[in-house]
Parts: sequence; structure tokens; C-alpha cells
Amino acid sequence: YRAKTRGGGCHAFFDVELRKRVQRHMDLEQDLRHAVGRDQLWVAYQPVADLRTDRTVAVEGLLRWRHPDHGPISPAEFIPVAEETNLINSIGAHMLRSATHQLAVERERHHLDLTLNANLSPRQLDDPGLPGLVESALADSGLPARALCLEITEEAIMQDPAAAARVLETLRELGVSLAIDDFGTGYSSLAQIRRLPLDSLKIDRSFITDLSESDELRVIVTSIVTMAHAIGLDVVAEGVETAHQLDLLRTIGCDHVQGYYLSRPVPLDELLTSPLRLPTG
Ligand code: C2E
Ligand code: CA
Ligand code: CA
Ligand code: CA
Repeated sequence: YRAKTRGGGCHAFFDVELRKRVQRHMDLEQDLRHAVGRDQLWVAYQPVADLRTDRTVAVEGLLRWRHPDHGPISPAEFIPVAEETNLINSIGAHMLRSATHQLAVERERHHLDLTLNANLSPRQLDDPGLPGLVESALADSGLPARALCLEITEEAIMQDPAAAARVLETLRELGVSLAIDDFGTGYSSLAQIRRLPLDSLKIDRSFITDLSESDELRVIVTSIVTMAHAIGLDVVAEGVETAHQLDLLRTIGCDHVQGYYLSRPVPLDELLTSPLRLPTG
């Protein structure tokens, strides 16, 4: 840092900021190694509603880290750290085991037919142990395979579409369903997606945020929905925050919605005891 600080106050400021960021990154990296063992990770759940029936049909499990000194840390910050350090496979396994177990228990207790959506990182997709992990998480929890949907980002699939296709085939053979996540943020073509064994497509939140203000976005989302339906995929819109966005998506013919308008991600028991906010349209 020394050479840069000679340049003056401005550089010194950035050095302090940079040093803080590097330090935090190193702290998180170190602490993440113990997070699973010290029981600091938990799973929040966000409902996914079916627009035909206005009912919750699935919940997406989203990891949370309760850090003893730094407080709650977003997965947007610690998942990348976990990916860099190879911790993602053990954290991902822990997440899948806990979430399948929790959901299996609640499905039984409340006689619910809820699907669990779980996110897979690109690194997990490369792990040859992944199908075995999924199989044993299902067997140990008693969650039926058809009640598990694995979400894989468009970006992860596009890193190596041929390799991804093979892994997805293997997962599909277990009986789970598969969704392409954050759709629209990568550069996949319909031709590529069509060849993958997918069940649903999640339109990225960035297309939904300004849906009410932009005719252009409405045309884009309509064509994504039409195209997805043409290749047999269900469509989920992410990041729905207003009644107006929900109405537009209903008109467009989107199948499912997820977002703060319905519920933020919350502990599972909280989600199961509070009614879903979804006006029938
Ligand atoms: P994602 O899979 O795209 O998950 C959706 C994110 O959008 C979640 O952020 C959720 O809280 C947020 N969200 C949902 N509805 C709304 C809305 O109406 N408005 C806004 N502004 N945001 C909304 P979260 O929980 O912070 O997770 C961020 C990302 O971290 C996830 O994005 C996912 O990529 C990753 N992640 C979370 N849990 C896991 C996990 O168990 N494994 C892996 N590999 N990644 C995970
Ligand atoms: Ca997701
Ligand atoms: Ca997403
Ligand atoms: Ca995202």
C-alpha cells in the first residue's frame, strides 16, 4: 500500500477502504470455515405462488449467516467467499440436508404439498458427488424427489453447457425437477436451453423491477413467457414487489410469482403460520 499512499489524501482514503475490504474478506473466509460447525447458518424460506390457484406451491430456501461479531451477513457476500475457498460444497451439502429435512417435517405435520426450491452454485454442479448428495438428502429426510426443485443459474449453465447438460440429466433421473435461475442475465439462446432437461425458468428480478414503468419490459417479459411455454417450461417471475407488477404478470400469462409483495424470506414456521398475501384477481 505504501507506494500508493505517497500520491496524496485521495489515494490514502482508498487504501483505508481497500484495506478494510480485504480484512473483512479475510475475516469472513476464516470464520466461514467454522460457521457450519458452530451452527451459525440457517435457512430462510420465501413462498412461490401459483397464479392460477393463488396458492403457495413452493418455497425457496435461502441461506442466512448469523455472524457472532458482524451480525447477519447476506449470501450475496458470503456465497462468493464460499465458492473461492471450496467451502461451498460442504456448505451446500449442509444447506440441502437441513432444508430437505425441515420441509419434510413440515409437509408431514401440516399435510402440505409444498416443493422445496434449493439453489446450486456452479461449483456444486462440477462436483461429481452432487447426485449422491441429492439422493442421500432425499432418502435421509424422506422428502419425495418430486418435491425438490434445484435452481441453477443461467450463468452456471453457460460456463460449459455440454457438461451442465450431463449433470442435469443425472439429477433429473433422480426424479427432482430443475429450474434455470436469474434468466435473462446471461447470454443463453433458446436453442441451447431447449436441449436441457429443465422444468421451469425464473425471470430475473431486473426485468420485473421496472415492469410497471416500461412498455419495452412488458414486451420482453411477454416474449420470454411465450418462448418458455413453447418449449414446455413453467415461468416464475422473481422480485415481485407491488400489486401492479403482479397484475401485469397475471395478464402476461406468467405461471408463478415470488417476491416481497407476497413475503420476504422468513423462518419456515413463520411462513407456515402467516397467510399469504395474494389478492385474487
Ligand atoms: P437468488 O437465488 O436469485 O434469490 C433471490 C434473491 O432475491 C434473494 O436474496 C431474495 O431475498 C431476493 N428477493 C426476493 N424477492 C425480492 C423482492 O421482491 N425484491 C428484492 N429486492 N429482492 C428480492 P438473498 O436471500 O439475499 O440471496 C441472494 C443470492 O444468494 C441468491 O439469489 C442466490 O444466488 C444466493 N444464495 C442464497 N442461498 C443460497 C444457497 O443455499 N446456495 C447457493 N449456491 N446460493 C445461495
Ligand atoms: Ca434462486
Ligand atoms: Ca434468482
Ligand atoms: Ca439473483
